[in-house]
Amino acid sequence: MVLSELEVLVELQELDTRIGQLSYRSDNLPEHEQLMTLKGEDATLQSAIELLLVDLEVLRKDQQDREDEIQLLEDKVAKATSSLYAGDMTSPKDATVLQNEIDSLAGRQNILEDQIIELMEQIEPLAAEESRLLLEQGACRTAMGEAESKISEQQAELVSQANSLRREKEAVFERAGTTLADLYVEHRSRMGDHTAVGRLVGASCGACFLEISAVEVDRIRRLPSGEPSECPECGALLVR
Ligand SMILES: [Zn+2]
Repeated sequence: MVLSELEVLVELQELDTRIGQLSYRSDNLPEHEQLMTLKGEDATLQSAIELLLVDLEVLRKDQQDREDEIQLLEDKVAKATSSLYAGDMTSPKDATVLQNEIDSLAGRQNILEDQIIELMEQIEPLAAEESRLLLEQGACRTAMGEAESKISEQQAELVSQANSLRREKEAVFERAGTTLADLYVEHRSRMGDHTAVGRLVGASCGACFLEISAVEVDRIRRLPSGEPSECPECGALLVR
């Protein structure tokens, strides 16, 4: 059986269908959905961490302020103590004043240390929760990275397959000649989602599956083999 010259139209349509399928697969990889879910989880964890940090940062600052103050007190006590034992006191009264000052500084230090212990007790469970959330977020972001690389890996493969089909299509275009190639491109862009090429099977159009009148079919079948014709129902290019 000699294939019709119009057969290239079917080839072109099949190649375009396959290119379309690759593009659909690329947009609908399961990892896309997985990545969306992970991004949602990451955002939830991020808000939880930020909320926790509001309290945690205040407590940590309070602790730091007290530690700084203790450092200052310790410096003062050290200085006063060294004056006291350096023997440069002019009178026992001065020594008593200095000793009282040391005692008062030490008293303040004790209060601060107790406050620090209380703060640390408050900080502890929050910090544990912070660590847990950060760990969970780390795992979530690792999984996001993995999903992203799986996506780009598969997309690169699909792009390469599509490029090879496009090269095949170029070759078919050349074989088809300008007239048929232009006609195909024009029909495909005009018909949008509808099938642009249909095989004439018996009296029905392979694009819209409608029955074409006997008179029309007869007229179409009598056309020279390379002459294009359209389905009178849907406008698809008929291959006979
Ligand atoms: Zn039709």
